[in-house]
This record gives sequence, structure tokens and C-alpha cells, in this order.
Amino acid sequence: MGAILSQEGEHHAVASQKPKLHPIAFYSATFTPTERNYDIYERELLAIMKALTHWRHYLGWTKTPFTILTNHANLQYWKAPQKLNCQTARWHTDLQEYNFIIKHIPGKINTPADELSCPPNSDQGDNDNRDQTLLEPKLFINTTHTTQLPESSKKNLMALIHDHPMAGHPGRDKTIQKATKVLPWMGMCQWIANYVKGCAVCQQNKILTHKKRMPLYRITTKEGTLPFQQIAMDLITGLPQHHGHNAILTIVDHGCSHAAIFLPCSDTITGPGIAQLYLDYIYRWFGLPTKMISDWDPRFTSQFGKALTEKLGIQQNLSTAFHPQMDGLSEWKNQWIEQYLRLVTSNDPKGWTHWLALATTVHNNQVNTTTRLSPNQILFGYNPTLNSDKVLQM
Ligand SMILES: [Zn+2]
Repeated sequence: MGAILSQEGEHHAVASQKPKLHPIAFYSATFTPTERNYDIYERELLAIMKALTHWRHYLGWTKTPFTILTNHANLQYWKAPQKLNCQTARWHTDLQEYNFIIKHIPGKINTPADELSCPPNSDQGDNDNRDQTLLEPKLFINTTHTTQLPESSKKNLMALIHDHPMAGHPGRDKTIQKATKVLPWMGMCQWIANYVKGCAVCQQNKILTHKKRMPLYRITTKEGTLPFQQIAMDLITGLPQHHGHNAILTIVDHGCSHAAIFLPCSDTITGPGIAQLYLDYIYRWFGLPTKMISDWDPRFTSQFGKALTEKLGIQQNLSTAFHPQMDGLSEWKNQWIEQYLRLVTSNDPKGWTHWLALATTVHNNQVNTTTRLSPNQILFGYNPTLNSDKVLQM
């Protein structure tokens, strides 16, 4: 490993430009055989620890933070809470002495330090898994991490991001997307593709392995429509009776976030009944809709609109659009919830009502292929945490 200690020199004429860095000391060290066996995350942190210890008299207890420039993207790993072993716990304590920030820079710019890390006569450790320093920075964008992960950890990860009800057996691409964020490893895409292909629950329950083609006909949306201003409603009927429910009311934010809310109800529900559900679950967050789309009998829809405004004591006409054939969006939501329920209730199909709230949460946290964001990202600006990554500690 190699490091350079640099000091900020004269400032450029342009205030926004960073001051020049002057190298004042060089440090180069090799890892011991034991250290070479550390995993990549530990080795990268170890390199920093060695340099810090070497220059402790300069860097310890500084008032102003110094900057560690590194091309090791894997250091990001330490951003997340990790289970510390004896070694890393000691580093953790040692790090308290230093006031620093870490900045990631592409390897290209960091050539001097790279040169130091592999001086010509040093033991190149041919048997080591030293591929990190040899990889070009641009490769990091595609492969992100080159960690070898034990099989058990991969399976633990799948249990959390694929099998778990909060994950809801997402398809190959969505599972990969999630894994990339949590714990990527080399060969991940192929491994996950095989895992999903071999998942028994998926095989038994998924009819929609391929994305259904959207009907050509789409209900248009006005640009700049706010959340739940243009809504689509639908009723899924014919479910097993449970606590007086045998249907699902689907309310979709048709014009903005594509969020969906799934509510248990009965197939005999009336317009005022739906209005009450609307007040309880949507109105309190998003207020009144201005346009409603459904394939319900227009008389029924107007009953709903009337009841909604009456309950609020206001006079406003809800513009309604009757679509004898709903467009792809609503159709898709219905299929999604039916499939989700099949997946999570395979042991207890009758208990489906228990799963609707969770289904809503899971659905709205998943990236939407049209908007390329999850409904929650559009509505709140972030994805709420559904599952603790702490489960992943290994
Ligand atoms: Zn599955």
C-alpha cells in the first residue's frame, strides 16, 4: 500500500478552485501474510490505519479536519453499521483520535499513491486476491464490488430481499437492483437470476413472468398533476370471506406517483361506503381528487362523489371519467395485488386481509417502470425502511 501526505498550498486566483496540494511525505508498506487474508473491506481500511499511525504526530487530534483522498470505493462498506471483530473494533477506537473526512477520487488521479502501493521490487503477492488495485476505476461503475461472498450470506440476503413478505418475491431485475444497493458481490446478476428461476414459491405462483404489454390505449394525464388528484378505482371481487370482507378496493394515484392503496371491503359496498374509506385513507393525506377514472356504472361513481363532498360539507363536483375498459395501469395494479397475495398467503389463503396494509407498503416502495422511481420516492422523496439491514450482519 502507499500513501502521500500533502499540504494545501497557495490558493488559486479563482476562489472556487481548490488550493494546490504539495506532497510533504511519502509512505509505502506491504501487508503481512496475515493481513493479506483480510477481506477487501478490512484491507482498505487497514491501509488507511497504517498511514494514520505512521503520521500520527501530524494527524492526531487536529482541530481542522484533514481529508483522506482514496480511490477505494469499497470503503463505503464501512458507512453502514457492521459487526466489528477484535481487529476492526480496535481500529474503531484508534480512529477516534483523528478528525478527518473521506473523499473518493478516481484511481487515475491517484496514480502517485498507486505507484507507491506496488513498488517495483516489492512482493507482488501473486497468490493474493489483489485485484482491487489493478482494476480500472471505470470498472467500478459496472461491477461495483468484487467481493467474494460466502453462499450462506447470499442466501441470507435473498431471504430478506426476495423471500420475505416485505420483499414479496420480486422478479429477477428488481431483486438484483435491491442487492446492488445492499450487498453487491461479483457474479451477483447470474447468481440471482438462477436463484429467482429456481425459487419454488415464484414458480408456483407467478403467471406474470413476462411483463404484459400495455394496451395501446392509455388514459391521458395532464402534466403537473399532483398526487391523488387524478385517481383510478377498482374493485377486485370473489375473494374468500374473511372478517366480513370478500373484495379489495384499489385506489391508484393515476396522474402522478402511480402509488396504489389496497383496502379490504365487501363486494356489496356502496358509494358512501367507498367515500368513507377514501376519507379514512386518502383524504387525510392528499385531500380531494379532481378527477376519477373507473369502469363502474356512472351512477355508482356519482354516488361516491356526492357522498364524499357531502361528508365534508362542501359543494364541488368531482369530474368523473367512465372507462368501460380500464387502461393498463389499473389492470396492472390488480394483477400485482392478486399475485402478491398468492405469494404471501400460500399457507393461509383465507387470511388475505391481514396482508393488504403490507402489500400497499411493499408496492409503493418498489420502483415503477414508467416513472423509474418508487411511488414513495415521488410522494415523500425517499423510500421508508421496511426491513432492517441489521439482519444482514454476518
Ligand atoms: Zn420467489
